[in-house]
Amino acid sequence: MHVTTRRLVRPFLARPLAQTLTRLAGATILLLSLAHRSEAEIRPQGGVSGTESGFAVVGVDVIPMDRDQVLENQTVIVIDGRITSVGGADETSVPDGLSRIDGRRRYLMPGLVDLHVHVRRPDEYLSYLAYGVTTVMHLGGSATRGRQLLEDRRQITAGELLGPNIYATERVLDGDPPVASGAYSLASPEEARRTVAELAAAGFDFVKIYNNVSLPVFTAIVDEARKHGLPVFGHVPRGFDPLAAMREGQNAVVHTEEFFFTYFDGPRSTTEMDRSYVADRSKIPALVDVVFANDVAIMPDLSFTFTNLLMWDSLDHLWMDAELSYQHPNTVSDWRSFNINRREEIENFVVRGQWKYELLQELTRQFQQAGILQVIGTDASLPGLFPGKAAHRELTELVKAGLSNFDALSIGTRNAGEFVARYIDEKARFGRIEPGYRADMVLVGENPLADVRHARLVEAVAVNGRWVERAELDRQRSALATRYRTLTEVGEQVDAALADNGQGAAVRTVLSAHADDGEIAATIEQRINSTGYAAAAAGELERARRILEIGTELFPTSANAWDSLAEIALMQGDRRKSIEYYRKALEVDPDFTNAVEQLEKILAEGPV
Ligand SMILES: [Zn+2]
Repeated sequence: MHVTTRRLVRPFLARPLAQTLTRLAGATILLLSLAHRSEAEIRPQGGVSGTESGFAVVGVDVIPMDRDQVLENQTVIVIDGRITSVGGADETSVPDGLSRIDGRRRYLMPGLVDLHVHVRRPDEYLSYLAYGVTTVMHLGGSATRGRQLLEDRRQITAGELLGPNIYATERVLDGDPPVASGAYSLASPEEARRTVAELAAAGFDFVKIYNNVSLPVFTAIVDEARKHGLPVFGHVPRGFDPLAAMREGQNAVVHTEEFFFTYFDGPRSTTEMDRSYVADRSKIPALVDVVFANDVAIMPDLSFTFTNLLMWDSLDHLWMDAELSYQHPNTVSDWRSFNINRREEIENFVVRGQWKYELLQELTRQFQQAGILQVIGTDASLPGLFPGKAAHRELTELVKAGLSNFDALSIGTRNAGEFVARYIDEKARFGRIEPGYRADMVLVGENPLADVRHARLVEAVAVNGRWVERAELDRQRSALATRYRTLTEVGEQVDAALADNGQGAAVRTVLSAHADDGEIAATIEQRINSTGYAAAAAGELERARRILEIGTELFPTSANAWDSLAEIALMQGDRRKSIEYYRKALEVDPDFTNAVEQLEKILAEGPV
C-alpha cells in the first residue's frame, strides 16, 4: 500500500556523508575477534528544525497495547514529543498549527524496543528505525563506543541526529581473567566499586556483569551500583550459585540461555560433550519462583539461539539477505570471519543448540505464565542478527514458543517501557499509545495483533515525537548501501594488494586514489589491521608484523596502528620493539587506554 501522508518535516538537511571519523581504541566489539578496529562512520542525517511542535494522525486504527484490542478510527495527537490525546476521529478536533497525517486503513502501534544490542556505528540507527525499533539498549562494547553513544543520545534528543532512543552502558564488568574481550577485569571488590562509580559518573544507565565475576566482586558491584542508582544487568556468573546472583540483586538476565549453562548444568564445552545430557525440567518451578520473587526481568533471546542453529546448518541465508547491503563492510567482514559453521565439533554445537532451544522455549512459556517481566533483547549486531530486523525474528520466535500475538507484542513494546521505568528511569513512559506516553510509534499496513509479522510493514515511525516516513528512511538507507559498495570495492583492492606478499606500495596506490576521503582511508587502515590480526590468528606472525608495519607506515598518526603492531611484536617475544611501538601509540594519542595498560603490564614484568 502506498502511503500518502502529508509531509510533516522539512526535507532532511543534505549533508555530506562521512562527516565523522572515529577511531576505536583498544579491543572493541565483544566476543567477535581479537582484531583492533578503526572505524569510519556515516551519521544518519537529522537536523529537523522548525517550529512545528506536533502532529495528529487522523482516522487510524490504534493498537494501544494496554490490552488485546484495536481502537478503530482514532485521532492521535502528539505535542512536544508526547502523546497528548487519543480519541475517536469524529469527536477529536486537531488543534490549529498541527500537521495532519492521514492514517486511514492503517494501524498505529507503539515502537518496538530491542533491549540487548551492541551498536557498532551510528548508521545502524537507520535500520532500527526502518524496522520500527524506536528504542535500543546498548549492552557493552568499547569505551570509545560507550562515550560516543552518550553523545549520540544527546544529539538525537536535540533533533540533530536521526536515531532511536538509547540506553547504554560502557565496557562490561568481568572477573579476572575476563572472558569477554574488551571487558573490565575486576580482581577485587575495591576495583569493582571504583569502576562502577566511574561508570555512574560518566552518565551510563546501568552496569553489565559477565561470566567470570566472583561472588565478592559481584556483591561489591551490586552494592556500589545501588548507591549510584544504577541497575545491574547481565549474564549469570559461572562461578557460584546462579540463584544467588538474583537473590543478591541482579535485576535482569540478558539471555535465558544463561540458565541452560548454569542452573541446568548444560555442557559448557563442546569437546567431549556427553550426548546423554537431559535438562532437568523438574527444576523449572524453583527457578521461576526465584526470578519472580526478586523482580528479575528476562530477555528470552530465542532469536539468538535459533539464528545460530540456522548458521550452523548454512550461512547462505545471510549472504542472500537483502539487509546485508545496509551493513557496513566491516560488519560483513566480521560476520564472514566469524563463520560459525567452520567450527570443529559442529555436530555437538548443533545437538547442544537444539537442547538449549527447546529448554528456552519452555522457560519462555513458564516465565510468561508466572507474570515475569520479559523483554526483547536480540544481541544485534552479532553475526546473523541484523539491526532492527532481529527484533522481528524475536517476535516470531516468541509466537513459535507458544505465546499469543498480544503477549509477543507486549514483550516487544509495553514491557520494555515498564522495564526502563522500573530499573533505569522511573519517569520514563513509553511502549503504549496513551496520553502522557513518549510518542514512539509505528504506522503499519496490516494488523500486527492478527499476525506479528505485520509489524514489519512499516510505513512511518514516530520517535520521540518526530515523524519520519518510510520513504525518507529508504532514501537514506539506499545512500548508505551505495557508499558501502564503494567501501567494499576499496577493501577488495587492499586485500589483493596485501595478498600480493604485503606490498606497501600497492596499498599506497589504492590510498592515493581516494586521498580526500577520510572514510575510505579509515577503511583501508581497518582492512590492514584486520588482515594483520587474521594472519596472527592463523599463526603467521611474521606476515602479520609485515602487514601491520605497512599500517604504521601509511597511518603514522594512528595510535591504533602502532598499538596493533606493538601487540604482534609482543606475541613474537620482541619486548623491546613492543615497548617502542606502544610508546609511539601514546605519542600520537596520550589517551589511548589500551597502550597505557599494555605498557604498564610489560614494564611490570621487569627490565627489557
Ligand atoms: Zn550481547
